[in-house]
Amino acid sequence: MRVFKFGGASVKNPESVQNVARIIKNHHGTEPLVVVLSAMGKTTNALEELCNLFMGGKRTQMIKAYNQIRSAHFEIAHGLFPDPGHPVFQVLEQSFYQLYYYITEPPGDNYNYEYDRIVSTGELVSTQIVSMYLNEAGLPNRLFPAQKLIITDANFRDARIDWIMSSRAIQEQLTGGFRRDQEEKLPPLIITQGFLGGTPQGFTTTLGREGSDFTAAIIAYAMQAMEVVIWKDVPGLLNADPKIMENAVLLPNISYQEAIELSYYGAKVIHPKTLKPLLSKKIPLKVKSFQEPELPGSVINNNEQQDNHIPSYIFKHNQVLVSIFPRDFSFIAEENLSRIFADFARHGVKMNLMQNSAISFSACFDLDKTKTPALLRDLRKMFSVKYNENLDLITVRHYTRACIDKLTAHKEVVMEQKSRTTLQMIVKKSS
Ligand code: ASP
Ligand code: MG
Repeated sequence: MRVFKFGGASVKNPESVQNVARIIKNHHGTEPLVVVLSAMGKTTNALEELCNLFMGGKRTQMIKAYNQIRSAHFEIAHGLFPDPGHPVFQVLEQSFYQLYYYITEPPGDNYNYEYDRIVSTGELVSTQIVSMYLNEAGLPNRLFPAQKLIITDANFRDARIDWIMSSRAIQEQLTGGFRRDQEEKLPPLIITQGFLGGTPQGFTTTLGREGSDFTAAIIAYAMQAMEVVIWKDVPGLLNADPKIMENAVLLPNISYQEAIELSYYGAKVIHPKTLKPLLSKKIPLKVKSFQEPELPGSVINNNEQQDNHIPSYIFKHNQVLVSIFPRDFSFIAEENLSRIFADFARHGVKMNLMQNSAISFSACFDLDKTKTPALLRDLRKMFSVKYNENLDLITVRHYTRACIDKLTAHKEVVMEQKSRTTLQMIVKKSS
């Protein structure tokens, strides 16, 4: 069994949906396949906005936002289904009517509950359109509602997975679906929504923004899939953000651990939440381009051999560096450190880098308009504090002498830390 995940960008218009069908056709043999889909294009953002208007009682603007979302989906459907009498239009009509009916009643006071109720529409209509289109395109499939597969608690907007119940539900339903496909001599193909879950009581939940990758991993975990493929608009995992480094290159193969490390330092790779279930069952994760599906892309698996072949660069801008000195010139030891850490924890400030000497402790973190001044105020009760703004933190995994020289050529390095695998430098922002 394999799992494919297609994000919003891969189903943003009729051509891209047709491309998804092509990819499934070319990559789907006899092995059963589950396809996890996101909402189309930027629909999730639009529905979030709609939800805010709903909660804020801004009725006129809300109806306008609703109409925009509705017509965008009808437009895509018309691009895919030339026959205006096709049943897809009735299905969409009904889904949007349900949303309309919901938002024209007064909102309850649980924002997160309302959010999940409304925002889930994006994935629901996206899978309705794509599933019916695949049927037309010679890819008969079964659409399974994710609310009955991914069983969660009622922590709306960031629901936690019940692994035992979900595994059981996924195994039972998907195995049943594949069996029926095989009996009917159809290539086993199941479509479901990413990002959505459901409580045992039947309420719809969501798993947090960008949650569809996680859905793919949960299903793969439960079914002990042979692989997960995430189809993206980039050629695979890159060693730097191509918007910052033009000559970013592809990482053909990294280990789960390396991917988790990279994301810890701030790289926008795959979220550790997605990687952990795959790691525990040793299921490889591929990242491939839906624009160039024949290219190999990247794979994340158990193999650590290539982890150090290519240095990876992670840039964090807008960094603050504070140096903290005990007012009584006492040494920086456990007692002072625990006070400092408690202040950081209380204000929810995550240290990106820390270092200490006998009488000072320094830490670098993201500037935040409200958290930073509040933290400084508290620190100053016990310590004298110096601080610098407008710094960049550069992290290089598997650094080489050459890449350090290149990075620091015209920059002033304020602080530096090296381990065997990782170099971190705080540099003054180049103007
Ligand atoms: N549609 C959701 C989002 O945009 C989930 C996802 O695409 O992963 O956050
Ligand atoms: Mg997305």
